[in-house]
Amino acid sequence: MGDVLYIVVPCYNEEEVLPETAKRLKAKLSALTAAGKISPESRVLFVNDGSRDKTWEEICALHRAEAVFSGVDLSRNRGHQNALLAGLMTAMERCDMAISMDADLQDDVDAVDAMVDKYHEGCDIVYGVRSSRKKDTFFKRFTAEGFYRVMNALGAETVFNHADYRLMSRRALEGLAQFREVNLFLRGIVPMIGYNTAVVEYERGERFAGESKYPLKKMLSFAMEGITSLSTKPIRYVTALGVLVFIVAIAMLIYSVVRWALGETILGWASLICSIWAIGGLILLSLGVIGEYIGKIYLETKGRPRFLIREVLEDGVEEKGPRT
Ligand code: UDP
Ligand code: MG
Repeated sequence: MGDVLYIVVPCYNEEEVLPETAKRLKAKLSALTAAGKISPESRVLFVNDGSRDKTWEEICALHRAEAVFSGVDLSRNRGHQNALLAGLMTAMERCDMAISMDADLQDDVDAVDAMVDKYHEGCDIVYGVRSSRKKDTFFKRFTAEGFYRVMNALGAETVFNHADYRLMSRRALEGLAQFREVNLFLRGIVPMIGYNTAVVEYERGERFAGESKYPLKKMLSFAMEGITSLSTKPIRYVTALGVLVFIVAIAMLIYSVVRWALGETILGWASLICSIWAIGGLILLSLGVIGEYIGKIYLETKGRPRFLIREVLEDGVEEKGPRT
């Protein structure tokens, strides 16, 4: 018998796409099972992230109709990353490998085959990387690619153009479970797990239906989250800034003394007011950067749960017995 695959799909207000997603994922699992690559016990695990529409009702209906669909209902909306983690942690106890995927069918379902092949070749983590962004709007492409560049420049190493479409073996999931941080940025944490990794390229399509839950504002805060939870480089930059400003101040001092020695009047107002504003701005900026980290520390020390599960839909798990 093959290895059990769980496809984990976080869903937030996705009632419009869910039936189509379910249909395609089921077809994919059947094909892989028929090819003997995965066990017939494999499942599609939908995570309902506190949706306000009929998403959970639909997941329940799918589960009632077919055992291949199971679901996790979170206690409230916790955001994409936490929802994904909830799904992966639920899958961890039940699967040999898990693939995470968005509900909107933007990730090419056919890349699953290549991922599973890589798993059988001995990879623990397989990253889905989009080969191009032709189908994105210019704005989304520009902001998203800028996102990866800025992230890397600020010391947050991520896989370029890889979102959260990836395969993880059970061993990798168990590794992930040991990262206890509350400020969750999965695509930065997963590369830290290590083991054998591979990359599978795919073409990312448009959203099948519904609209993006990542407007610019959320993307910016997501980027901030990523940078501050992966790297302390910004604090280093604050130090560098301090040194730079100090050097400028020394230069100004020398200049002023020389002008004074030459008996020239020292010009005042404009340079003074500019310096005051510039220095004030830099101080506030630096405080903001440091404050960002203090906020992180504050949240981490509380150690609040990252998600709470209201209900898990599953059947047949108990009768399954030990896995091979
Ligand atoms: N999502 C979620 N909780 C949220 C927001 C989004 O579980 O609070 C899910 C959403 O249902 C989708 C995935 O995260 O499956 C990615 O969201 P979306 O497609 O809106 O982002 P984009 O592809 O535009 O970056
Ligand atoms: Mg999407």
